[in-house]
Amino acid sequence: MSDTPKTRLATDLIHAGRIRTNLEENAEALFLTSGFTYESAEMAEAVFDNKIPHFQYTRFANPTVTMLEQKLAKIEGAEVCRATATGMAAVSSALLCGIRAGQRVVAARALFGSCHWIVSTLLPQYGVETVFVEGTDLDEWKEALSKPTALVLLESPSNPMLDIVDLRAVSALAHAAGAIVVVDNVFATPLLQKPLELGADVVVYSATKHMDGQGRVLGGAVLGRKQWMEEVFQPFFRNTGPSMSPFNAWVILKGLETLHLRVTAQSQSAEAIAKFLEASPKIARALYPTLASHPQRELAMSQMSGGGTLVAFEVKGGKEAAFRVMDAFRIITISNNLGDTKSLATHPATTTHMRIGAEERARLGITDGCIRLSVGLEDAQDLIEDLAQALDKA
Ligand SMILES: *Cc1c(COP(=O)(O)O)cnc(C)c1O
Repeated sequence: MSDTPKTRLATDLIHAGRIRTNLEENAEALFLTSGFTYESAEMAEAVFDNKIPHFQYTRFANPTVTMLEQKLAKIEGAEVCRATATGMAAVSSALLCGIRAGQRVVAARALFGSCHWIVSTLLPQYGVETVFVEGTDLDEWKEALSKPTALVLLESPSNPMLDIVDLRAVSALAHAAGAIVVVDNVFATPLLQKPLELGADVVVYSATKHMDGQGRVLGGAVLGRKQWMEEVFQPFFRNTGPSMSPFNAWVILKGLETLHLRVTAQSQSAEAIAKFLEASPKIARALYPTLASHPQRELAMSQMSGGGTLVAFEVKGGKEAAFRVMDAFRIITISNNLGDTKSLATHPATTTHMRIGAEERARLGITDGCIRLSVGLEDAQDLIEDLAQALDKA
């Protein structure tokens, strides 16, 4: 082929990052191999001395995983991507690789449960000072970032209540405090929000969610600038081994080919469902970033191009009512995954956010009546009818 044309997202999801062997295979090859060989001892020496580019060992790099990394870097607009075994491997590596005892981390309180644990429990064990702020309150960010800080971690929209953090403003405050900004962009997906363009330095994903999108494998990704990825992240990654399995990379590569179709359709359904829920007398509140009633709709729309595939709502009548609704679903399934083609409902207070405790849940607005719905690819009207009949039992 002649020189590479300038292409758009849908094309990049199909073609970007491809490595084709001399067998000219069409679909991406699965290199299920832990190691690679050298023609001579001299060659091995040159490869280890970085004089010849050559795959060495799958913990460092693998062609199938490299294809995924190159594709993700292209669609995110990042200089470098490294794929990891899980989303949590991505988050923990991005946080631990550069942090030192005595340094300070500021994080939004509304984080995925395990991310919250890393900040509240793990980092302090290593002598890192950690501070939580209310992510939606810029005054709290200002106060927390008035001292020198090494790293800021946030999620927007947040799990499960879909709080929106002002990425531009927080990035500016963080940079003034000397911090790098790590954004967990799982809920928005690379389709609907580009944190690097809004000021973030590092983006992390759980590829388990929309990227696989069909509930099969775990994976994660860390994306950032060449200098940080090579000098700070890469030594940690190579030596601690959070690497992605080539098999999982191969599955996720296939998932990515339809990412834009799935996320677009699922977001449309999610918006229709949020509107239906908001009008139901059984509901205390429905949260979705594009709803007129969302307290941060304007901010959401200034940094996202769509509301995403998740809806949160609070059933009147607390835990008993929420459980009755969930147990009455006929199409929607009870599961704590998200971003799947199947619609999945979770009761955060008793599952994903059980361990953070009642006090922290109250601060986050996660009441016992709250249900998080990950909207799948089923017919939206069928989902609305399923919700309607289930809500009748609340
Ligand atoms: C799922 C998820 C993670 C963790 O990803 P795993 O692949 O389960 O390790 C981190 N952050 C958010 C927002 C998530 O939804």
